[in-house]
Amino acid sequence: MKITDVRSTTLEGNFDWIIVKVYTDEGITGLGEIYAGTIGGDMLRLLKPFLLGEDPRDVDRLYWKLYSAFQRETGASLLASISGVETALWDIAGKAMKVPAYRLLGGKYRDEIRVYADCAAGEGDGPEEEIRLGPVVLKGVHTPEAYAAKARKVKAQGFDAIKFDLDLPDHFKQDRYNGCMGNEDLRYRVKLVESVREAVGGNIEVAFDCHWQYSVKDAIRLADRLEPYDLLWLEDPIHSENAKAMAKVSKRSPVPICTGEHKVSRHGFRELVEYQAADVLSPDVQKAGGISETKKIADYADQYYIPLAPHNIASPVGTMAAVQVSATIPNFLLLEYHANDIPWWGKLVKPKGRPVVKNGRIALPTGPGLGIELDEEEVQRHLKKGSKPLP
Ligand code: MG
Repeated sequence: MKITDVRSTTLEGNFDWIIVKVYTDEGITGLGEIYAGTIGGDMLRLLKPFLLGEDPRDVDRLYWKLYSAFQRETGASLLASISGVETALWDIAGKAMKVPAYRLLGGKYRDEIRVYADCAAGEGDGPEEEIRLGPVVLKGVHTPEAYAAKARKVKAQGFDAIKFDLDLPDHFKQDRYNGCMGNEDLRYRVKLVESVREAVGGNIEVAFDCHWQYSVKDAIRLADRLEPYDLLWLEDPIHSENAKAMAKVSKRSPVPICTGEHKVSRHGFRELVEYQAADVLSPDVQKAGGISETKKIADYADQYYIPLAPHNIASPVGTMAAVQVSATIPNFLLLEYHANDIPWWGKLVKPKGRPVVKNGRIALPTGPGLGIELDEEEVQRHLKKGSKPLP
């Protein structure tokens, strides 16, 4: 079997979903996805010459070939592009051998994958709202009440784990660059967390994402104040380039710390693991290097008893790649689901193998490869302007 072509197209969802398709001389094709927000889609043309004529079933060797072809440079866009290809190769390999991708990775630990609903910044997206905190009136922010309403709605849908953004526009901050938080700002963020916890009760797992906003000292101040709310994790309270700084936050924080969505390749995670810089790691399968690389990151983290909660903002293609690898690792915690507000998300896939999120779980598909086939008509409806359908 030989690779004959590699193409991509972009769908317009809540992110740009860059879908990769790899073609073979035996008529079997494979699907993958490249992380949005990188130029990985444009880089695909650089990878293509290294793939043509190769046997797509030599997945690990082809990963090595692509990675080595660019001097093992660990740019996120290159790794994102490789991730899309690597996933498509697993899809082909599974189809060629008529088994799900997880079978080729050592088999499964579980039949369904627990997901958490990403709730962004509450119900108030769009229209501006006004909030009073003592003498201060805030405009254009999402209120604690909006957070609580969203939390109740998502809980009623059956999710038992949710995540919100905690890094809203700061109307208190005196300086937008130094990562420092005043007391009013701190109290406001604690109020958001409190409102969500009160809304859902004690048994729903709740995480908050800070998107790399704070200094070490203020990350620790914030974490200290959040201790009573029994959070699943506090995500990226500081920038993630410096594993020692993250380790300091982690060791001082009474709340578990999660990081990793910006890291790529097993090498990018090595220091985080060795310094035990986080309590939960969140590689993104569409950026970290694909299915096999995510499993290698998971295996290394498991030696330090650190669970994985893969970051995921993907279409059903990337999500099902994450589902496949999540089934194969012992230290899987739960997977992000970022498309809860997009009713047509699952319809991009034909009914057989379509990912259905039920009670906060996605069933492991039983079909070969990733176990999915795109619904071309639905794909056509959501092509980004200038993108062509894949043959
Ligand atoms: Mg995040």
